[in-house]
Amino acid sequence: MVVVAYISVVLSSHRKIIEAQKTKLAEVIKSSERYKALFDHSLAGMMKFSAATWEVNDVNEALLSMLNCSSEKEVQQSLSSIPAALLDPIKTAEEKKLWLLFSAKLIDGDSYAHGVLVDITKRKSVEERVKEQAALLDETQDAIIVMEENGEITFWNRGAETMYGWTQLEAVNSKLQSLLYSHEREKEYREAMNHARPLHEWNDEQHHKKKDGKEILVESRWLIVDHTNRNRRTFLIVNTDITNKKRMEAKFIEAQRMESIALLTGGIAHDLQNILAPVAMSIGLLRNELKNETSLNVLRAVEESAQSGLQLVKNILTYGKGIRGERVELNISALLNHVLEIIERGLPTTVVVRKGFADTNWIVRGDLNQLKQVFLNISVNARDAMPRGGVLGIDVSRSSFEEKELSNYPYAQAGCFVVVRISDTGVGIPPEQIETIFEPFFTTKEGGEGTGLGLSIVHGIVKSHGGFVTVESTLNRGTTFTVHLPSA
Ligand code: ADP
Ligand code: MG
Repeated sequence: MVVVAYISVVLSSHRKIIEAQKTKLAEVIKSSERYKALFDHSLAGMMKFSAATWEVNDVNEALLSMLNCSSEKEVQQSLSSIPAALLDPIKTAEEKKLWLLFSAKLIDGDSYAHGVLVDITKRKSVEERVKEQAALLDETQDAIIVMEENGEITFWNRGAETMYGWTQLEAVNSKLQSLLYSHEREKEYREAMNHARPLHEWNDEQHHKKKDGKEILVESRWLIVDHTNRNRRTFLIVNTDITNKKRMEAKFIEAQRMESIALLTGGIAHDLQNILAPVAMSIGLLRNELKNETSLNVLRAVEESAQSGLQLVKNILTYGKGIRGERVELNISALLNHVLEIIERGLPTTVVVRKGFADTNWIVRGDLNQLKQVFLNISVNARDAMPRGGVLGIDVSRSSFEEKELSNYPYAQAGCFVVVRISDTGVGIPPEQIETIFEPFFTTKEGGEGTGLGLSIVHGIVKSHGGFVTVESTLNRGTTFTVHLPSA
């Protein structure tokens, strides 16, 4: 049946030629001798067979050699059931499978039929290879795209569907430029075009947009394929999504930098401690010696400075040590209630606290003092961010994270987390600073107001608890720090 359908296609596309040759052919058929010559010398296989029994009466040379047979009987065997042969490949004497295009016409008052057979095995195997190769292209995770010189997409594999979110149906016939390049990134498209055209080859990193509007970073390779016989060129484009790889690389470099800063500052802190300790100790001795009020005031100022210096040194050392503390079960709401008591004492009246959590028995394992410091440091920053007042909110929830969601935080394990959100309605953090705020000594506070250590300590402590911190911020709107700690 498949074959029959195929024949009708052939017929319709060649109808005109056939029509034109019909009269001619009729003449030929009339003359039996000439007909015989045509039968014998045709390159197509030809046979005459009984319409009722399918018994083969006559075959030509071409058919014999096509089926590797020496007699009509053998042909009969090879084509033992022609109706079935219409659907399946035909086996020749040495079991070679052939695909035959078969067409037949009733003759001699419908008792006989005339069959013409053409070997299309080669074409079939090419078709199959093309199909196989297309299927292989779908296996890869890379996006494989074929584009015409005018920018129109003609091929879009499954990898491209998953990478960009556009289905093949949506992508094919649209323009690559408008599909993958946002307005700001259009020049990346032009750059690729301008380089690929003369050089025939181009590769670099590009920013592409997905259907959902998200931007991804891809390694893009362009290759121009010239079609020699036609005046046409196509672009073969292979894109690999390297967004995650890049992010991991950046995190890794960041971690290394933090590590080396920690080493360096640790060394300095030790020296400072050795210098400050005798100063602090001498103050007690001097206090007994000094009698007049002015000198005692000076001494008090010296003491304060020495103490805050020592506190600073202590902070640096906590940060540098990688911070290993106790591990006990802590009720998170009790801990936060305690933190709230402390910060409420230190808040100006213009800052309102919104306690957004109920008392629960959600437990985390950790070091009480360290975790207190985490929430205090974040709250103090929130206060500092609201010089003209505002709302400081604390909320608690629980949430599960899968491994793939935690790829940025290798020290955190998949599972349930207690999530503490501390938000303010303050000045916000400029986007270009959001990556830097956790670095030791990064501060925007002037006049010795800030040490720039608060958040690096937060980061160190939370990390050592197997948790992670995220920040969201909008300028002049406010900031939310979210601390995730593994739920016990
Ligand atoms: P410090 O508070 O001593 O400056 P931190 O490490 O605690 O150091 O914070 C670093 C910087 O991060 C701050 O100087 C500030 O610029 C920014 N920052 C932290 N928290 C907030 C916040 N809630 N709102 C706005 N900026 C913040
Ligand atoms: Mg701070």
